[in-house]
Amino acid sequence: MTRKIITIFTVFFVFSFVAKAQLSYENRYERPLGTVLNEISERFNVRLSYEIDTIGKKLPYADHRIRPYSLEETLTNVLAPFDYKFVKQNDSYYKLKTYEYHRRSEEEGKKMLEYLIATYSDKNSWEQRKACLKKEIREKLDIDNLLSKRTNSKPILSKIRKYNGYTVQNFAIETLPGLYTTGSIYTPTRKGNHALIISPNGHFGHGRYREDQQQRMGTLARMGAVCVSYDLFGWGESALQVGSASHRTSAAHVIQLMNGITILDYMLTRKNIDKDRIGANGGSGGGTQTILLSALDDRFDAIAPVVMLSSYFDGGCPCESGIPVTTSCGGTNNAEIGALFAPKPMLVVSDGKDWTATNAEVEYPYLKKIYNFYGAENRVQNIHLPDEGHDFGINKRNAVYDFFASVFSLDKSKLDEKLVTIEPEEAMKSFGKNGELMPENAIRSFDALSEYFDKKLYAQLRSDLSLEKKSQDWVSSLNLTDEKDISFLNTLIYNHLRKVRDWHNDHPYTTVPEGINPLNGNKLTILDRQMIANSAKPKEIHETLMNGLRRVLTEEQVEHILDKYTVGKVAFTMNGYKAIVPDLTPKEEEFILKNLKQAREEAIDYKNMNQISAIFEIYKTKCENYLNENGRNWRQLYKDFVKKVNEEKEAKKKLENKN
Ligand code: ZN
Repeated sequence: MTRKIITIFTVFFVFSFVAKAQLSYENRYERPLGTVLNEISERFNVRLSYEIDTIGKKLPYADHRIRPYSLEETLTNVLAPFDYKFVKQNDSYYKLKTYEYHRRSEEEGKKMLEYLIATYSDKNSWEQRKACLKKEIREKLDIDNLLSKRTNSKPILSKIRKYNGYTVQNFAIETLPGLYTTGSIYTPTRKGNHALIISPNGHFGHGRYREDQQQRMGTLARMGAVCVSYDLFGWGESALQVGSASHRTSAAHVIQLMNGITILDYMLTRKNIDKDRIGANGGSGGGTQTILLSALDDRFDAIAPVVMLSSYFDGGCPCESGIPVTTSCGGTNNAEIGALFAPKPMLVVSDGKDWTATNAEVEYPYLKKIYNFYGAENRVQNIHLPDEGHDFGINKRNAVYDFFASVFSLDKSKLDEKLVTIEPEEAMKSFGKNGELMPENAIRSFDALSEYFDKKLYAQLRSDLSLEKKSQDWVSSLNLTDEKDISFLNTLIYNHLRKVRDWHNDHPYTTVPEGINPLNGNKLTILDRQMIANSAKPKEIHETLMNGLRRVLTEEQVEHILDKYTVGKVAFTMNGYKAIVPDLTPKEEEFILKNLKQAREEAIDYKNMNQISAIFEIYKTKCENYLNENGRNWRQLYKDFVKKVNEEKEAKKKLENKN
């Protein structure tokens, strides 16, 4: 089936489908969701952009849901059965989205804090709420279970590198058997007992290796605090152990917190750490970790979550919200979890362009009320930067330096980021550039951790990891040297493979009605129906991949990747034609190659080998028709070829028998 035919099929089926779905009481007046949304767009004269899947979705009581006087009431009614929502962009443009469990509206965030503060009027009632949250957050994370299974083995430490006013040393600590958390310790050069700042990372590109992260660690060390920066689970050196797809899991949520606590345990066994000056500081996802670490471990004395504390956003990565901690004790949010730290010193840094935009008017006044229960209103600070966005820029770092200088009595005269040495990524790694120094007992797959978690939940993850490995293998076969290109391509191909798989799984052949293939009058096979279902996937899936490949690769390299998708079918099939038609003309060869390449590009959007072969079959038929139209007899050529092959086989057999 060519794309055209598939389109014809699709149209054909949509029509027959609509015809079957007559409006009647018995079918609950069902109509296709896509059709209803198109009509709404016309009726109210608005543009709707779709970040939702409408294929095969039927809306019960469709026309009953329309409110001619209100677009928004209509959309609410129409989208509700599918757990979809709309987000207004302007008066004539709305985005349709899937439900986001980790995000609410600003208004809802505000209402929630008003509701919460009304439930505790003084220190006593707050302390009861606090006890409930502290207990339930631990239970939901099941963190005590993981903490009890840790190995307690001695950390692996690198040589110490000396810089201006501080040193850096890499470490790898075995947490669960065979699983390591890796990072670097920044220590002030001068003697004495030092404050300690645990510094979990967020999702800013390059993680803990990025320049602004190193600047912050080095500067705070120069000012007199030991700082520890460590990889996210499935990022940096951890990716060598468990693969980067394992980061986007609920397991990452609790493992990262276990890592933070384990690093703190270890650091407190080292000399020259002042146990009364323990801090935590991180931005974005590192802010989420900072807030949670402070709720889980009473040893922290001061914290600074940056661009993260919000009443209406829990963090969009499963490493922040994969385990539903914000459903604890009847419902909470990161602002209330942050408030558990009262009355100890806390700095909240916020900006005008993300979910911390309301901090100055909503979250911060709320925090002050909680701190006030302890008469400690002045121990919580907010630096709000309304013109800035979601990053860890210089103004945010300066706020953090000022805060820790003040609460931990650091030496502010040593604040000079220019005196920090930015190290290359390799220098910061415990296991060497490609993990060659990884200990023998180190686990090499996320599967090795499945015993600690619900096995069923990890079926999808295993599939993700196998796609990730596939994309890495394909990219590495290109022998590229630019690390940025390699990581871009790994992600690009991995995302494409996943989208193709997910579409296939979400749109089984049963979503296409039974029917007759108009080409041959036969009943549609399951494969036909599956391919019709798959051919309806949004064009962007294909275009994003192809545009991305062409952006960084030569045309020859792009073809190499497409051949990987289709296991070299173009060359294999071409060789077949050459064998069957020994006197193939250059013109014929050109025609066949062009068509096989077209087949290849189409086939990459299909999930399995059966489907990929079916696409090639369509183009092969086209090629064979072409040969017939140009004076050849394909059937005869093929027959002769088979005969020749069989004769050769016979001859070979005879020869072998003689010998
Ligand atoms: Zn994450």
